[in-house]
Amino acid sequence: MSLGIDVGGTNILAARVENGEIQEKWKLKTKKGEVIKIIEGIIEENEEKIVGIGVPCYLRNGICVKAPNISELDGKDLGHYFKRAIIMNDCTAMAYGEYALRGGKYDPLLLVALGTGVGAGLVFKGMPYIGKGSAMEIGHIKGFFTQRCKCGKTGCFETVAGGKYVNVEKNAKRAMNGDKEALEFMKDYGRIVGRGVSYAIQLLDPEIVIIGGGISNAYELFIEPMKEELAELLSIIDVDNIIFERAKSEYSGALGAALIAERGLL
Ligand SMILES: [Zn+2]
Repeated sequence: MSLGIDVGGTNILAARVENGEIQEKWKLKTKKGEVIKIIEGIIEENEEKIVGIGVPCYLRNGICVKAPNISELDGKDLGHYFKRAIIMNDCTAMAYGEYALRGGKYDPLLLVALGTGVGAGLVFKGMPYIGKGSAMEIGHIKGFFTQRCKCGKTGCFETVAGGKYVNVEKNAKRAMNGDKEALEFMKDYGRIVGRGVSYAIQLLDPEIVIIGGGISNAYELFIEPMKEELAELLSIIDVDNIIFERAKSEYSGALGAALIAERGLL
């Protein structure tokens, strides 16, 4: 039995996991300034010795260098606060959770999370891939105009695809009601996401690409233009040989965090 916690800017999701499956799950509001206290509470209330926590942070050597949406975590060594927990990037956890939900069938698995910001996770040969600790930060690939990003640099992919910078959710709602301008917006959005994701696909040659995060609710409105853009941009790799799917569960981050901790994969 293990416990997985997925810390997000709006909600903190937790799951008790046994035999690779979620037995119980719950959701708490992310309260500013109380995030560490809330996580401590969840860990204390549950007796599981194995705990995995996914955090929306730029991680370096186990330290949360910056958490753009949860400033309380900035600069914190989370291993110091949660001694028995394995700390990981939230997208790493989500990628592994989605991998497990598909029975480990697809590998390499690339997960792209489109939310307030843009992140990614990779499972390769059954293992979450984090490089030296900070791999897969797809949101900070450069070459996308000149807007300043929260990471301190300019021109990041996230500044044209993250909900913090572009109003995707509002346009998605309008597009669902048939608004032509909003439909066009969503097509353009798909193309720009395709451009960003093309760099990762060209490098990693994944078997499956999963779109997660809040914006994935509008998956149908942008996936086709995204694939069209990929068809134009990818060399050697054929976009029709890649499986594209939407994330299966809101709790895949919590599930993945628990399994990565339980299986000692990081
Ligand atoms: Zn950036």
